[in-house]
Amino acid sequence: MDRSNAGLLLGLLLLQFNRCLALGGGDAAEGGGVFPVVVSTWPFREAVRAAWEVVAAGSTGGSAVDAIVAGCSACEVLRCDGTVGPGGSPDENGETTLDALIMNGTTMEIGAVASMRYVKDGIKAAKLVMEHTGHTLLVGEKATAFAISMGLAGPTNLSSPESIEKWSNWRQNHCQPNFWKNVVPAGNCGPYYPINVNPVHRTIGEIQGWLQSGNLLEPTDSHLKSVINRHNHDTISMAVIDKMGHVAVGTSTNGATFKIPGRVGDGPIPGSSAYGDDEVGACGATGDGDIMMRFLPCYQVVESMRRGMEPRDAAMDAISRISRKYPDFVGALFAVNNKGVHAGACHGWTFQYSVRNSSMEDVEVITVTP
Ligand code: ASP
Repeated sequence: MDRSNAGLLLGLLLLQFNRCLALGGGDAAEGGGVFPVVVSTWPFREAVRAAWEVVAAGSTGGSAVDAIVAGCSACEVLRCDGTVGPGGSPDENGETTLDALIMNGTTMEIGAVASMRYVKDGIKAAKLVMEHTGHTLLVGEKATAFAISMGLAGPTNLSSPESIEKWSNWRQNHCQPNFWKNVVPAGNCGPYYPINVNPVHRTIGEIQGWLQSGNLLEPTDSHLKSVINRHNHDTISMAVIDKMGHVAVGTSTNGATFKIPGRVGDGPIPGSSAYGDDEVGACGATGDGDIMMRFLPCYQVVESMRRGMEPRDAAMDAISRISRKYPDFVGALFAVNNKGVHAGACHGWTFQYSVRNSSMEDVEVITVTP
C-alpha cells in the first residue's frame, strides 16, 4: 500500500471511530445527550413524544424519517398553537393553507408542499412527494390533487370557527395589519395599487372598486411588527437522529396570519426552515419566514458545524447574519450536531425548544432569550 492509500485508510478508520463514539452515546458538552434524539421548536411536548415513541421503539428503533412524520402529524392533529395543521392563520380571503417539508439527511432527498389547499396532512403529503416523485416541491391545488391521488383524505375545508372569527375581526379592522407595502389601497381592504400606477391600466373590476371607494386612501406600509408573534406565526420544525445515527428533519405550518393569498413561507424551503445531514447534524427554524428565507439560516448552521463550529456558535452566527441586515426581524432556530449536542438562538422574541434523548425521562423544554 502506498503512503496516500495508507493515509486514506487511516482517515476512514478515524472517521468510523468518531462515529462509533457518537453512536455509543457518550457525554454531550452542553445540553446534549445520547441517541436517539428528538428536537423540536417550541414546547410542542406531544409532538416530541410521538416522534420519540417511533424512534425509540424496540432494539433498533424506527427510522428518523418515520419519527418526523409521527411528530409533525401529532402537531397537525393537535393544531399546535393554532399555527400548525388546519384551522389557523387565515389568509386575506379567510382560507387556511399548509406548508410542509421533510428531508432525509442520509440521502439528502427532500419532499415539500407549499400553499396546499384542502388537505390536512401536510407532512404526510411532503413525504409522498419525497418518496414517490423525482420532484422536491409541489404547490397549491396541484399539490392538493397529488396528495389526494396518493391516498390522503380530502378535499376538506381547512377553516375552523376560530380562523373565520379571526378573519372577520380583521376585516372589521379595515384589514389591518397586513403584508402590503408601497401601495395605495382603493378601499379599506384593497384592491391595492403600486404607488404611482395609473388606474387606467387596471381591470374593469378593479377600476370599479377604485371609483366606488370615492377617495384613495393614504399609501400604506403596514407589514407591522405586530403581525408576527408567538400565536399567529409558528412552525413545528423538528430534527431526529435515530439509533443508527441517521438524521431527518421536517416542518409543518399554516404560515403567517393574513398573508396575501399565494404566499409561501420558509416552511417548505430547504435550508431555510430546516436542514440536516448525517455527516454533520441538523437545524430547525421558526419566525418571519419572508425574511429568514433570504438567508437560508439552517443551511448556514449545518455548514458552519461542518466546518467545525459548535451548535451554539453556529446558531448565534446564523441569527446574527439576519439581524445585522434586519434589526427588527423576529425568529429563532435550534442546532443539533451528530453527537446530540444542541443549542438555540433567537432574535426579537424569547424562544423555547423541546428535546428528548435517551438520558431523559421525558421531554425537556429549553428557554432561549434573545
Ligand atoms: N416561518 C413561518 C412562516 O413564515 C411561520 C413561523 O414559523 O413563525 O410561514
